[in-house]
Amino acid sequence: MGQLAGKSALVTGGSRGIGAAIAKRLAREGANVAITYARSGDRARAVVEEMTALGVRALAVEAEATDVAALRAAVDRAATAFGGVDILVNNAGIAPYGPFEDVTVEDVDRILAIHARAAFVLVQAVVPHMTAGGRIVGIGSSLVERVPDPGWALYAMSKSALIGLTKGLARDLGPRGITVNLVHPGSTDTEMNPADGPDADGERRHTALGRYCDPEDVAAAVAYLVGDGGRNVTGAALVVDAGAVA
Ligand code: NDP
Repeated sequence: MGQLAGKSALVTGGSRGIGAAIAKRLAREGANVAITYARSGDRARAVVEEMTALGVRALAVEAEATDVAALRAAVDRAATAFGGVDILVNNAGIAPYGPFEDVTVEDVDRILAIHARAAFVLVQAVVPHMTAGGRIVGIGSSLVERVPDPGWALYAMSKSALIGLTKGLARDLGPRGITVNLVHPGSTDTEMNPADGPDADGERRHTALGRYCDPEDVAAAVAYLVGDGGRNVTGAALVVDAGAVA
């Protein structure tokens, strides 16, 4: 068993993409892992099966990120199943893109609810179940550091909210021995942003290394932050973007 043996984790949006890679990485390190999903129930159950085969306990909970009651219920479910939550990874997200003139107020409210409000609600719900040594990691975006193309204002705004949340919570939760950090992925090969998609070559050209990230690259950064090596890192952001903001 790895460095997270005996720990328990909750990863939102763990049914596919980056969240699934994070969940599986934490399970490989020995953690019991709960994942949430919104629409991909079958895929969430497949991720759970993969994690269970590693010898840890795993479960999937349906929790639409705009549904505050569902988010709180997901935390309770994980805490009850595992006897607490040591690690929370706020990963679930979407990528609205397009002319800013076309964005409606309803779009703004929905995206802020998914990326910012859900993160706040989940932290509030999870902290009572977390003891010293707890770890909270948000998945932001390299677009909070640099927006190289038009069409991303709403997305960048919603992810930027996580910076203030992370720094503020680092102060609120530091005295309890809980760290709070962010990982900012750059272009990462998932269904949200396939490495063979129409914009992929342009995105690759923005990077110093000339390539996409794999979901496992982001998972490795999360594993560092939640592991022993990350014990004195809090209020920080780690950019994993092949050098797009260099
Ligand atoms: P995917 O589209 O591959 O996966 C998104 C995940 O989030 C799924 O598990 C999905 O669940 C879940 N999800 C989406 N909407 C909701 C919702 N309303 N309520 C609950 N869960 C939801 O995306 P990625 O894996 O690429 O993205 C993961 C995170 O990384 C996001 O926060 C994204 O913004 C961020 N990111 C991604 C980058 C990239 O290039 N891929 C770059 C920078 C940041 P389900 O399928 O069950 O609906």
